[in-house]
Amino acid sequence: MQLPKKKTPKALKFNATFTYAPAPESKSHVKLQEQYGLFINGKFEKPNSGKYFETINPATEEKLAMVADANAKDVDKAVKAARTAYDKVWSKMPGKERAKYIFRISRMLQEKARELSVLETMDGGKPIRESRDIDIPLAANHFFYYAGWADKLDYAFPNQQPKSLGVAGQIIPWNFPLLMAAWKIAPALATGNTIVLKPAETTPLTALKLAEIIQESGLPEGVVNIITGAGATGAALVQHPGIDKIAFTGSTDVGKLIQRATAGTNKRLTLELGGKAANIIFEDAPLDQAVEGIINGIFFNQGHVCCAGSRLFVQESVYQKVIRKLKDRIETLIVGDPLDKNTDIGAINSKQQLDTIKKYISIGIKEGGEIHESSCAIPKKGFYCRPTLFTNVSQSHRIAREEIFGPVLAIQTFRTDDEVIEKANNTAYGLSAGVWTDKGSKIFNMTSKLRAGVIWANTFNKFDPTSPFGGYKESGFGREGGVQGLSAYLKSF
Ligand code: NAP
Ligand code: MG
Repeated sequence: MQLPKKKTPKALKFNATFTYAPAPESKSHVKLQEQYGLFINGKFEKPNSGKYFETINPATEEKLAMVADANAKDVDKAVKAARTAYDKVWSKMPGKERAKYIFRISRMLQEKARELSVLETMDGGKPIRESRDIDIPLAANHFFYYAGWADKLDYAFPNQQPKSLGVAGQIIPWNFPLLMAAWKIAPALATGNTIVLKPAETTPLTALKLAEIIQESGLPEGVVNIITGAGATGAALVQHPGIDKIAFTGSTDVGKLIQRATAGTNKRLTLELGGKAANIIFEDAPLDQAVEGIINGIFFNQGHVCCAGSRLFVQESVYQKVIRKLKDRIETLIVGDPLDKNTDIGAINSKQQLDTIKKYISIGIKEGGEIHESSCAIPKKGFYCRPTLFTNVSQSHRIAREEIFGPVLAIQTFRTDDEVIEKANNTAYGLSAGVWTDKGSKIFNMTSKLRAGVIWANTFNKFDPTSPFGGYKESGFGREGGVQGLSAYLKSF
């Protein structure tokens, strides 16, 4: 019997102007207060300063809420609450009991994942796809992972009698607000420390939601205190004599100020600072996969990533091919409403950051770089930047040396392994790097010679609570994540 011939469907034509129907995530379930106090000793309190500042949605420039501005007196109150909680409750509680609270916080983060994802996107501007699939699940995973260590510290550090430090002051940036809070709070709690955390001025809302979750979890009062404010609040926390440890994630400039402020004191310090990662494509790499990785490496979260692959090195023999593919690919990236599930690149976190990025783009052009921007339309309101490539870049160009923290990629070429190692290491930073090649031996050669804390091979921007993260040189010191992340909060190390 002869089967009827199937009609071949008309080939789908690829078209760069192809548009998707809008698929906005609802925000009706997000519960926001008009005004937030400071979370001190288990309660939300009015600030001593009497001052509040607004936090806006950078995608629309609309006000979301008013947030308390903590002054030195507020900081003092929070540190004292943390000290009392440390002395009376938390330092005495067996690890097995501490673990129960940390597990509970992890489960509650999972339960409220949808609300937290939408809020993270509203306050910070990152695409909902990222906050939903990366930030919030990873934050919950960090609590889950460190809960498991709380009663096993003696096994993690045998014969070293690990002891907690006391009160930790933690200061975090705006690019991964809830995730950075989780990176800091979870290991500190697991090791028996109490906490005063300050989120960034532009993205305080998920940290305040976390405060509500902590309150609901029944964690003893004062174990975690969350105070909002600007740089001055962070500086007051760093200078407070009642602090035993400062854990800071942010810019290298502020990191240096903090290192100076803590010099000569008994305060322990870990710094997670800026980066200028090299992403290296060899001629034998699977090029399509590599191009996807490069795109993810620099345009993920609008380039607001300390470990963003902001310097691309392409082996000369495949240079033309890679540039063609990159140019084609950025034309298909969707820039716009971060709450839309189709969006690849959301809003830049603030007007100030957008101005910085624009400044670097004009510096790049003035220095002789050849610019290529995506031709996509961007919304009129809100802070947006098109994905941007720079070719004809040399090592001395500022866009190849300084952290831009935006969707701008500086591209250079190389011929030999030694040349690219020399070029990639020629930076003040050393946070991360990426290598794309088909050869395992080349991966081992590169990873042993590149001076970066994290090196990804044939992938990029992959995170897991079990693996340590941190920098070399001006990218800071200390490690977060994994067993190593525990030692930063223990006395014997
Ligand atoms: P930032 O200006 O250094 O701010 C980071 C935090 O420090 C914010 O909470 C900030 O408050 C506070 N702060 C500002 N001045 C201070 C001072 N004098 N003393 C104490 N605290 C102070 O950095 P950012 O612009 O928010 O974040 C971007 C930077 O963070 C980039 O350089 C990026 O590479 C780095 N980063 C590094 C990692 C890592 O793991 N290595 C991860 C994420 C981000 P305000 O918000 O009110 O200014
Ligand atoms: Mg905001």
